[in-house]
Amino acid sequence: MAILVTGGAGYIGSHTVAELLDRGEEVVVLDSLVTGHKESLLGGKLYVGDLRDKELLAKLFAENDIEAVIHFAASSLVGESMKDPVKYYDNNVYGTQCLLEGMQKAGVDKIVFSSTAATYGEPEKVPIEETDRTEPSNVYGETKLTMERMMSWFDKVLGIKYVALRYFNAAGAHASGKIGEDHRPESHLIPLVLQTALKQRESIAVFGDDYPTEDGTCIRDYIHVSDLADAHVRAVTYLRSGSGSNFFNLGNGLGFSVKEVIETAKEVTGLDIPVVIQERRAGDPAVLVASSAKARSVLGWNPSRADLKEIIRSAWNWHSSHPQGYGEA
Ligand code: NAD
Repeated sequence: MAILVTGGAGYIGSHTVAELLDRGEEVVVLDSLVTGHKESLLGGKLYVGDLRDKELLAKLFAENDIEAVIHFAASSLVGESMKDPVKYYDNNVYGTQCLLEGMQKAGVDKIVFSSTAATYGEPEKVPIEETDRTEPSNVYGETKLTMERMMSWFDKVLGIKYVALRYFNAAGAHASGKIGEDHRPESHLIPLVLQTALKQRESIAVFGDDYPTEDGTCIRDYIHVSDLADAHVRAVTYLRSGSGSNFFNLGNGLGFSVKEVIETAKEVTGLDIPVVIQERRAGDPAVLVASSAKARSVLGWNPSRADLKEIIRSAWNWHSSHPQGYGEA
């Protein structure tokens, strides 16, 4: 039986496909390649197409014996979601509805969902725990919470079991050096900093250095993409064991400041990284980190690449050897 990975040609999806293949799983990928890259697939059977294409989904489920789904396919730019909410409800919420409908028709009853810590919004306290209030502060986070709630009803009514994984920033690259992060446009700090080291950008903007943190810059949560891939595979195992639906934070509990990331990147690359301090951005909390105590105790998840230097070193290994990512757009 195979595992279907939607969005498997994306950044986290491709690392999860690699992890599944390493463990001897059969993998089927559905990806429209709207932000993904077919070069990022180290194996598996690729269907190029859209989640919202119900005929394609029916064909995919008919042609493959799918046991479980790992669902990454989504639009995930916070800024864009606040300009074009229709795109986010359509691709994320309606896309998930189509996927769940396809699963129901094909009798597939397990789904692991790539959610986000943006479901919490402004945190009540840090580190954020699963029992904390969810009040998203942007459309992207709201659509992800809606997708989780949809899954919860599909479980109650139809018995489709789900595990939702909520995390902040995926970072780093695969140990093989063959796959890594190539978002276009790029919005994540570590690749932006490394592109600055490569002189593809003039400078890196730091939004505010007067926050109530040790060095005045915001503290954020980073998890190595291969540790995230491992958590998604563990969640499949959890569902296979017959455990019911659940949701988990995947956080590093401590977080790293923006300055710390830049200083570590300077150290790892040995290159100059010009910084420009700008005004604070509206709605940027000082500290955003999630606890992973529940994932550790229930899923046995134990991130093995939690060190910032190691995360940046692996990202640098990819960026320095692939300065154009997967190639020209
Ligand atoms: P990505 O853009 O690299 O991957 C998304 C993939 O989904 C792409 O390959 C894209 O082509 C595909 N896709 C999008 N819409 C589709 C559709 N309608 N039909 C078929 N394929 C479609 O993004 P990523 O950084 O790998 O993120 C993957 C998932 O993880 C997203 O759901 C995102 O919300 C979530 N997430 C990411 C981060 C992060 O730091 N990158 C943090 C938290 C959650």
